[in-house]
Amino acid sequence: MANNERAFQLNVEQRDALRLEAQSLSPEDWEKFKQLAAECSAAMLSVYGEYIEDTLTSEEMAEKFVVMTPETYSNFWKNWDDSKIQIISSSNEGYFRYSKNLGDFVGGYVPDVWSHVDKGCRERLIAERGDEVSARDYVQNTTLRYCLVHEMIHVYQDQDIPLWLMECAAHYGARKVMKVQDWDLFDYDKHRKMANFYLHLVNKYGNDVHRLCFGQEVGETKKQQILAEFTDSFREKIMPGYGTRTRNDK
Ligand SMILES: [Zn+2]
Repeated sequence: MANNERAFQLNVEQRDALRLEAQSLSPEDWEKFKQLAAECSAAMLSVYGEYIEDTLTSEEMAEKFVVMTPETYSNFWKNWDDSKIQIISSSNEGYFRYSKNLGDFVGGYVPDVWSHVDKGCRERLIAERGDEVSARDYVQNTTLRYCLVHEMIHVYQDQDIPLWLMECAAHYGARKVMKVQDWDLFDYDKHRKMANFYLHLVNKYGNDVHRLCFGQEVGETKKQQILAEFTDSFREKIMPGYGTRTRNDK
């Protein structure tokens, strides 16, 4: 069955019920989260709005998120996944996931990335921010922005493009928005590789790559040329193990 045929939309009441069950934030923190998400949504649309037909308001976008703990997150997806959604990759961290199949919302948590920041940078941040707690908070907050922008890009993507393109586009887009906004970046090497591969596509095919990702018409020939760029050797280099995951694992 085609992906789209299984899609359904959660209405606001259903999403609120889901949030009541799965979200792990105090009302105050939820308000803060929504503000940040609204900021990220506006920043994202300032870069990609021209490629997107029906944009959500910042409030509508923020409401799509259900913030979980790592435990709730893992239980939640285990219980909600159907047999068609296989998560085989052992390296899947999946902080946030956008799911159209399961009702058009984003569920997840912010990973603790402090230990992945290199030592020199950690020391610099501690010196700049005054102490380690503030430096860690800063890194978490910045990572949250990256995750939010990444997932918001998924919300608007054409659900029928291959997963590798969705992911490369979302990592590239998150980096781009973070840079435009001057929001700093604490990302992983593997994410950088995916973003760089997408940049390679944009350098070669121009804005048609963005159009393809957001479901705009680029013509079949151009589409096939772009998709053919993901050769075996690129796959091995930037997404080893790719092919064991489905489009819902993102
Ligand atoms: Zn993703």
